[in-house]
Amino acid sequence: MQLKKFFYFIFFVSIFNFSFSFNVILESNTVREGGVLKIKIGNYSELKAADIIFNKKKYPIFFIGYNYREREYVYNTIIPIALDTKAGKKNLEIKCLFETDEINYHKEKIIIKPLAKEKGKVNTGGKLNNETLTELHKENKIISKFQEKYTPIKYDLPFMMPVRDPVISSSFGKMRRYDEANISWRHKGIDIAAPAGTKVRASNHGRVVAAYAFRIYGNTVIIDHGGGIYSLYLHMGDVYVRTDDKVFKGDIIGTVGNTGVSTGPHLHFQINIFKVPVNPFELM
Ligand SMILES: [Zn+2]
Repeated sequence: MQLKKFFYFIFFVSIFNFSFSFNVILESNTVREGGVLKIKIGNYSELKAADIIFNKKKYPIFFIGYNYREREYVYNTIIPIALDTKAGKKNLEIKCLFETDEINYHKEKIIIKPLAKEKGKVNTGGKLNNETLTELHKENKIISKFQEKYTPIKYDLPFMMPVRDPVISSSFGKMRRYDEANISWRHKGIDIAAPAGTKVRASNHGRVVAAYAFRIYGNTVIIDHGGGIYSLYLHMGDVYVRTDDKVFKGDIIGTVGNTGVSTGPHLHFQINIFKVPVNPFELM
C-alpha cells in the first residue's frame, strides 16, 4: 500500500514537471552575419539564474513580464552575430535554474550564413588623417563607455527607422576604404541620406545616455533601450535631447546634419547589442 502511494506520488511529480517544463522560443536557428538571435524563455516559476552560452560566450537574460494567459514568466535576450563571424554551425546552450529549484537545459545548433560582401570607397577630402584617426579612436572609447550598463528592457519590437522615407546611401557591413588614409573597415551602421534639417526620431523607447558634440562623429545621441541594446545617431544637425531624458519610440530627438567628419548631410544610424554592431534592419 505504502509503495503504491509512493508510485502515485512519483507519477504526479513527473506529470507536473512535464506539463510545466520551460519553453524556449527561437525565432529562427539560421542567422546571418551581422544579424541577431532572438531567444525567449517562458516558465511557470521565476528564473533564479541562467547560463546562456552561444559560440563560447555568455549572455545575460532579461525579464519581460508575466503572461497571464499562458501563466508564465517571460524572459528574453537578443544575441548579436558580429560581423566577420565565420559561417557554419555554432552551439547554443541554455541552462536555467528556477525558483522551484528545477533545472532545465536546452541545446541547439545555430547556422550562421555570411553577409554578401559589398565594397566602396569614401573620399573625405583629406579629413581623415593620422591626427583625426587618433581622435577617432578616442571617441570610440568614449562611445563604448556609454554602453557599459545592461539595464532592464525598455524597447518594444520592432525598432523603427529614425528618418521617414529613408534613402540608404551606405549599407551595413560594407567594406569601406578611406582613400587618403589608405585604411578600411566595415560599416557598422547604415547611412541615411536626407536634407539637413530632416527630423530624426528615437528608434525605440529608452533613455538618452549621451547627447554629445564629437569632433569626428559630430553631434551624437546615444539611447539605451535596455537588454544591452543601444542606438546611435551620428553627424546630427540639431540635438533636442539631453542626457537622462526618457524618450518614446518616434519622439523627435534632433535633425539630420553634416557635423564632424562627414561627406554631406546624412544620418549614420547604428544599433549595438552588448557593444556589437548589428544590422538595424534585423530589429525592424
Ligand atoms: Zn555611416
